[in-house]
Amino acid sequence: MMISSVSELLVSDKFLQEVQVKGWVRTFRSNRFIALNDGSTIKNIQCVVDFENTDENTLKRIATGAAVNIKGTLIESQGRGQTVEIQVSELEILGDSNPDEYPIQPKKHSMEFLRENAHLRVRTNTFSAVMRVRSALSFAVHKYFQENGFNYVNTPIVTGSDAEGAGEMFRVTTFEPNDAPTTEDGGVDYSQDFFGKETNLTVSGQLEAETFAMALGKVYTFGPTFRAENSNTTRHLAEFWMIEPEVAFCDLDGNMDLSEDFIKSVLAYVLEHCKDDLAFLEQRLTQEEKSKPQAERSEMTLIEKLHFVVDNNFKRVSYTEAIDILRNSKPNKKKKFQFPINEWGADLQSEHERYLVEKHFKCPVILFDYPANIKAFYMRLNDDGKTVRAMDVLFPGIGEIAGGSQREERYDVLLDKIKTMGIDEKELWWYLDLRKFGTAVHSGFGLGFERLVQFATGMGNIRDVIPFPRTPQNAEF
Ligand code: ATP
Ligand code: MN
Repeated sequence: MMISSVSELLVSDKFLQEVQVKGWVRTFRSNRFIALNDGSTIKNIQCVVDFENTDENTLKRIATGAAVNIKGTLIESQGRGQTVEIQVSELEILGDSNPDEYPIQPKKHSMEFLRENAHLRVRTNTFSAVMRVRSALSFAVHKYFQENGFNYVNTPIVTGSDAEGAGEMFRVTTFEPNDAPTTEDGGVDYSQDFFGKETNLTVSGQLEAETFAMALGKVYTFGPTFRAENSNTTRHLAEFWMIEPEVAFCDLDGNMDLSEDFIKSVLAYVLEHCKDDLAFLEQRLTQEEKSKPQAERSEMTLIEKLHFVVDNNFKRVSYTEAIDILRNSKPNKKKKFQFPINEWGADLQSEHERYLVEKHFKCPVILFDYPANIKAFYMRLNDDGKTVRAMDVLFPGIGEIAGGSQREERYDVLLDKIKTMGIDEKELWWYLDLRKFGTAVHSGFGLGFERLVQFATGMGNIRDVIPFPRTPQNAEF
């Protein structure tokens, strides 16, 4: 007999037909009703066991977490809350789950406890919903770019360029910790290491992606990146997935358009394709927010927030305007910011970004034209000589979701910048070559995939939107 999925059966009208389904028991009540889940949907299918004709021992083994194979008749449900159910004729226990030992019981577990059981937490409603949305979002990412003429490029994970400057890096070496060859001045001699030079895990595929944009026109990366930053926040991971489009013949305005269109498109995709999961996550979030003081609760539900982003324009504001707004803001005047804003040139902290997005504009904001000296060397210098064509996309509840820029395409200006920032130009010979041979205006941005999943699912902590989070002091599983 063909095995059906729970999601198929729940919308099926093949009443009185024999069906077979395999899954895991979520609950078993009154010695009679199994709530069965197979991961195909957040919903369970009710399987009604004829307990009078089922042996005692089998009944005992129908426990939360057990894997079962069920054959039976699909019928219209008499009970409330479901339209169909299965009248079980044959039940086989495929894998037992001892209720005294199984950690995931049908009750509310803390997020912390579930992180410690990350190998099992995907069996809960919350995590299975998040992970299905994550999967749908990754598909939507590829769909968007593929349908818009972008080529997918796989940039290296192990990188030999240490000039990316996006964050602290993890070193890649085959040397034994206490037995590395040394140079004359006592340093480690990496010329004898596997790659013959210092290598690290990549913090961004941007520089390599630029080389491809200058041949294929429109490209994007979507892969893992690594940052050894010791920031224990709800928005930082040591290993995260980044999406980095890079487009030739595109200026900063085009880049802002792309980021906005892209984000709206992938969120619209999950609104359309993940209805059940989003409905569950919305109700979870609303419940969670009830424990917060009224003032901290959001005015919109999860699905309303997603629609709001999809249906409204992002507000585009220059860094200079933003500084004025912040300087004159209530929290700044009342000295409520941890980092007060006094003058032009200050780096914006997450508290400032969140004020702009959540309190002032109340919508996604794209900040652009930042001071040159707080941004990376490759961003295009404006004619004012002090700002660069950088942009950050800021989201409510998240802060920075994407950061990008128009790239400096002028050889001399770029070389100058590299030198004044004290970067070894020899390391960047290939990057500089792009400006020597057929240079052109080009732009791109990097968007943290997990921050996007956080926004789409309403999860407060980034550790809860990736299967096995890597954070300081934590690399279990
Ligand atoms: P932040 O200021 O939030 O640390 P950043 O300025 O270091 O971010 P970029 O170097 O511009 O970020 O990286 C591009 C995008 O990657 C960010 O907009 C963010 O969405 C994401 N990102 C950066 N660092 C992390 C991290 N440690 N964990 C998860 N996502 C990250
Ligand atoms: Mn960072």
